[in-house]
Amino acid sequence: MNNYTIDTRCVQGGYTPGNGEPRQIPIIQSTTFKYATSEEMGKLFDLEESGYFYTRLQNPTNDMVAAKICELEGGTAAMLTSSGQAANFFAIFNIASCGDHVIACSTIYGGTYNLFHVTMKKMGIDFTFVDPDCTEEELNAAFRPETKAVFGETIANPALTVLDIEKFAKAAHAHGVPLIVDNTFATPVNCRPFEWGCDIVTHSTTKYMDGHGAGVGGCIVDSGKFDWLAHADKFSGLTTPDDSYHGVTYAEKFGLGGAFITKCTAQLMRDFGSIQSPQNAFILNLGLESLHVRMPRHCENGLAVATFLKSHPKIRFVTYPSLKGDPYYELAQKYMPNGTCGVVSFGFNGGRTAAEAFMKHLKLAAIETHVADARTCCLHPASATHRQMNDKELEAAGISSDLVRMSCGLENSADLIADISQALQKI
Ligand SMILES: *Cc1c(COP(=O)(O)O)cnc(C)c1O
Repeated sequence: MNNYTIDTRCVQGGYTPGNGEPRQIPIIQSTTFKYATSEEMGKLFDLEESGYFYTRLQNPTNDMVAAKICELEGGTAAMLTSSGQAANFFAIFNIASCGDHVIACSTIYGGTYNLFHVTMKKMGIDFTFVDPDCTEEELNAAFRPETKAVFGETIANPALTVLDIEKFAKAAHAHGVPLIVDNTFATPVNCRPFEWGCDIVTHSTTKYMDGHGAGVGGCIVDSGKFDWLAHADKFSGLTTPDDSYHGVTYAEKFGLGGAFITKCTAQLMRDFGSIQSPQNAFILNLGLESLHVRMPRHCENGLAVATFLKSHPKIRFVTYPSLKGDPYYELAQKYMPNGTCGVVSFGFNGGRTAAEAFMKHLKLAAIETHVADARTCCLHPASATHRQMNDKELEAAGISSDLVRMSCGLENSADLIADISQALQKI
């Protein structure tokens, strides 16, 4: 499928039925798979042959959908996970363990920040958080001998900062470690981080990929470009024998293209079991079939709403990376010339009270913690996701108390603007 455009890969990637086979991806709703002899099954357990034996590790439906996302990103191997959280946890934990260190952008999604800063810290992995706009010198200074990866988001949720992927990839590679990019908000339709030097991509497929608020899920894709063997001492989990699989050395047996995902499946999925259900993978694939049609509309609506708000007298600020004058406009043009996403953040001259009143008067945009849905939704972080913080703490987190995050859906932009306009009139 790789010689087709991304549009065609969205529709037909990952699965090509043979004669008389189902046209739609079949849902293999089975925990287990039958074999004629124990010897055949033994070979699967030793990773001598590839095949399915238990859905906690791998399932054919999931693999077809992962193969499609792999084609969309231009990678060599991919796996689905039960959530975006699981994808980011696995992507890091596959190469970092107790005593190791990881560099991450300070503006990353709150759930990921918590995973890194609280939970993975308890596992003995230390994180340094750097400003996405830091200089190359500042970035290089964050590395330690035990650093194993660099992590950032193409477009940060909800800060909407744009990652300078080339800058981060250059620093990571100069220190012999991979760059991992969470590409959830941009999706491969708008940005393919591998083309800019990123090594591993993660997704919360819950967002635009599913796109209908129907199923929680995640995905990890490997570019196959990072040379684990050239840095064998740093990544011994990939470059030395794994006793739990009869001494297989992943980087040798599965090559640079397959080592990362095979190890992640064989060890982490086996032990943590955060697999996506085949039903959810099927629903995710329905979303992927129209991703290339939906993303431009999300971006068109986002830009229309941002442009309208920008000139409204009651609005204090608008953050939208595709809007001229936004601090990230140039980076967004470089990495995402066709558009960024449908999420717009803005604040009110009337402060927190105005923000809260505005939300109450909206009719089309529903109040939800979700983003990237076909239906427009919005959130006032200060009274919802970040309500434990006082105004001072909110400012420090880059979220003012009057900030509203709106995720523009697929409705007609004139209707969205009319709804926003009437709500603004009432405050
Ligand atoms: C939502 C989100 C996540 C977490 O994904 P879940 O599917 O909710 O677990 C991770 N990264 C980003 C950028 C997100 O927006």
